[in-house]
Amino acid sequence: MNWDTVIGLEVHVQLNTKTKLFSHAETSFGAGANSHTTALDQGHPGTLPVLNREALRKAIQAGLALHCTINEYSRFDRKNYFYPDLPKAYQISQYHHPICSKGWLEISVNDPKRGEYARKIHLTRIHLEEDAGKLVHGQGGAVAESYVDLNRAGTPLIEIVSEPELTSALEAVAYLQKLRSILLYLGVSDCNMEEGSLRCDANISLKPEGSSALGNRTEIKNMNTFKGLLAAVEYEVRRQQRVLEGGGKVETETLLFDPVERKTRSMRSKEDAHDYRYFPEPDLPPVLVGKDQVDAIAAALPELPDAKRDRYQKDFGLSLYDADVLVSEKPMASYFEAAVAAFPAEPKKICNWITTEIAGTLNEGNRSIETFPVKPEALGELVRLVSEGAITGKIAKELFAEMIATGKRPADLVKEKGIQVISDDGALRAICERLIRENPDPVAKYRGGNKNALGFFVGAVMKETKGQANPKSVNQILAELLK
Ligand code: ADP
Ligand code: MG
Repeated sequence: MNWDTVIGLEVHVQLNTKTKLFSHAETSFGAGANSHTTALDQGHPGTLPVLNREALRKAIQAGLALHCTINEYSRFDRKNYFYPDLPKAYQISQYHHPICSKGWLEISVNDPKRGEYARKIHLTRIHLEEDAGKLVHGQGGAVAESYVDLNRAGTPLIEIVSEPELTSALEAVAYLQKLRSILLYLGVSDCNMEEGSLRCDANISLKPEGSSALGNRTEIKNMNTFKGLLAAVEYEVRRQQRVLEGGGKVETETLLFDPVERKTRSMRSKEDAHDYRYFPEPDLPPVLVGKDQVDAIAAALPELPDAKRDRYQKDFGLSLYDADVLVSEKPMASYFEAAVAAFPAEPKKICNWITTEIAGTLNEGNRSIETFPVKPEALGELVRLVSEGAITGKIAKELFAEMIATGKRPADLVKEKGIQVISDDGALRAICERLIRENPDPVAKYRGGNKNALGFFVGAVMKETKGQANPKSVNQILAELLK
């Protein structure tokens, strides 16, 4: 039997506000244990939460960017459960009335089996909630020790819940990547996955191909790498398939993925909403958001990746693929735009430099484009020099390596090194004539119909001139002399 894979993602995103969702404690990562806590974050009775206006604004920004309905009325609920990193024994979340409902985003997928395609994935909701603290497990001596660090407790989160519409591990990864890209464009989170600012739970089920009823699902908790998500979903799909084909039933449960063993294991049986005894948070009033407030936030949204991609195709004549690559990371798009501003005539050439030479160099050194030593204006200048015929493409590549090493501007390097393109026909012609005299064999081949022999002479001229000959002139002169 063939099976359809069904995946829904729940993504937790830490908002990058200065202070916590309900207290004035700072929200920085990596500070001394419990140094960023107030009595409220420590769960002392009698303390009162106050909603952080900035967190609400960022949640609304995310909702607008993801085409959600922003609810005029939303409310906080208590989600009750016990865990040592949650001293209050409840989390303040939004269950019955989230700040955002519905919504969608578009993913583009490159699947070796299905080809390249784009599709819309719908969201169920986005709600605001507080993060829990962290348990730190000590190495201990004879007795295992665990410590509680409440620095993270109360950090504002949005949880973005998708409909069960994703149909493969690759689509799940594309969804998470697109979500991350949009949130980074908005600047509402640093989306640092290693530090846990963006983490994802994957709900997975299988159903007989074409059937409309959803199968029993399992939920894999807390993945924070794209690779981990891909491997976990692929593993879990195969596991469920084996269970179903063996005549078994998929148990509804919560799983953890072990990235080293590369398999999932059971964490607990799945709890239902009624297990949490949700009830309206009595210490916080409902949240009322006016239409003019939402309109003002909408008007101030930055240009988002999809809009930028469309604009790059229209304004710069880039292909969908090129535009998609450039806009996937906001700093790369900004770099491209600054380089094009420095030399507007050849955006496609600038794009090529960025997506090949620069992306390659960055990958090798695991560096970011924001600290790349070649500034966008310098790249624009380099492309201009080639385009004006002042240097050849070959020399441009050599200069580029030096620009990376020294941070110097290409025009300065050209002056410093006395680089000149030899376009002087007389000088080039003399070299060509001599090379033709000295190499009768390739001449005979060329004249016998092997036009590739021309390449031998072009290469020889370039070698003699240290790559400084104007390739167009060389080709012309050679073709004429060899005729
Ligand atoms: P919770 O997991 O907290 O109980 P929900 O019931 O709202 O919350 O479901 C959470 C996620 O599970 C959503 O992203 C939803 O799309 C997904 N989901 C629900 N049913 C299935 C299913 N049968 N297969 C795969 N994903 C599912
Ligand atoms: Mg869940």
